Amino acid sequence: MQLKAILQHAFDQCAFYRKKWTEAGVSPGDVESLDDINRIPTLTKAEIQESLSELVADNYRPRPLIRDMTGGSTGSPMVFYYDEDRRDSREAAVIRHDRWTGWDIGEKRALLWGAPRDVAGGSRAGRFRNRVLGRDMALDASALDEPRMRRFCERLQRYQPAFVVAYANTLTLFARFVKDAGLEPMRPRAIICSGEVLTGEGRALIESTFGCAVFDRYGCREFAVIASECDRHQGLHVNAENLLLEVLQDPAAAPDSGGEIVITDLKNYAMPLIRYRSRDVGYLKPSRCDCGRGLPILELRGGRTTDFLTALNGQKVSGIVLATYGITNIDGLRQVQFIQERRDAVRARIVRGPGWSQEALDTLIAKVRAFLGDAMAVEVEFTDAIGLESSGKYRFTISRL
Ligand SMILES: [Zn+2]
Repeated sequence: MQLKAILQHAFDQCAFYRKKWTEAGVSPGDVESLDDINRIPTLTKAEIQESLSELVADNYRPRPLIRDMTGGSTGSPMVFYYDEDRRDSREAAVIRHDRWTGWDIGEKRALLWGAPRDVAGGSRAGRFRNRVLGRDMALDASALDEPRMRRFCERLQRYQPAFVVAYANTLTLFARFVKDAGLEPMRPRAIICSGEVLTGEGRALIESTFGCAVFDRYGCREFAVIASECDRHQGLHVNAENLLLEVLQDPAAAPDSGGEIVITDLKNYAMPLIRYRSRDVGYLKPSRCDCGRGLPILELRGGRTTDFLTALNGQKVSGIVLATYGITNIDGLRQVQFIQERRDAVRARIVRGPGWSQEALDTLIAKVRAFLGDAMAVEVEFTDAIGLESSGKYRFTISRL
């Protein structure tokens, strides 16, 4: 059983788990079946940020590991590691889930993503190019205005990708523009929306504008693809060969009320992530999908979502792009949220962690201005915690313009 093996490995090789589970009075041997998993304590992002070195497996330390980082729409960057085998299995899982849309390797794809904007500038274009291989057209959708969306529309119409991957809110904004402007749209066979919550209205608008099905996907940097839709669209199939996905549901609540999604990576032996709290909300359906795949079906109930911020030049800046490419790699930044109430200012709500400094703040402000304009006022507010909204959604950016 993959779960028992990774639990034993985590206990034997990671000081963090050994200490924490011992204090909780449990050991891997106490987990005889899946029902016992809740005896193992959950893991928070803050614990990883504080105890990173104790989470790397002792017997993997001498090996070359891949260092990765999530900035992401929870606004709280986190470093983590995996090895080359895990990188390969992550990529293989993405290809499998991509193929459920009808796309196949070698077909033309378009990615409406963001590009990093380093304070120093420089090599960002090169790094962005390196992210994409083969027949992928990458469009930097980090800042959008009408002329830019018009150019995107023309380029996509000429390229005619078979398949499009985009952030949900970015593509919704783009679809509305294409429709309202009466432009000739691209005609892909399928679109994958990822990175943030896809609303029913967003899905309907994208499908009617581009004349194809939208496939919702749930994923994150820590685990790559977590779950995604097949062509029956009856929920998201969990990537269960690689991940154990649990939903922490209040036993007193209605059976289908859902709860926080908690994930165990069954294959990351370099840095085991055991019962990691995602802060996203979902529900595991008891039914199976008509397609016949036996993988469990997840319904997302709440999760990351972002508003667009407005730059001084009027461009709409995607919150998720800002989160993913803008605010990573700042020492001591535990969590951040941006609120825009005026055209010329944003408020940064910051949770400080160990290592926070004036330099970190200067870096953060410089990164924000790289996206929103050099003269954008950044008002800073320190806080102890940034909560979820009543809907269960976490908002990295809030626009009240
Ligand atoms: Zn299915």
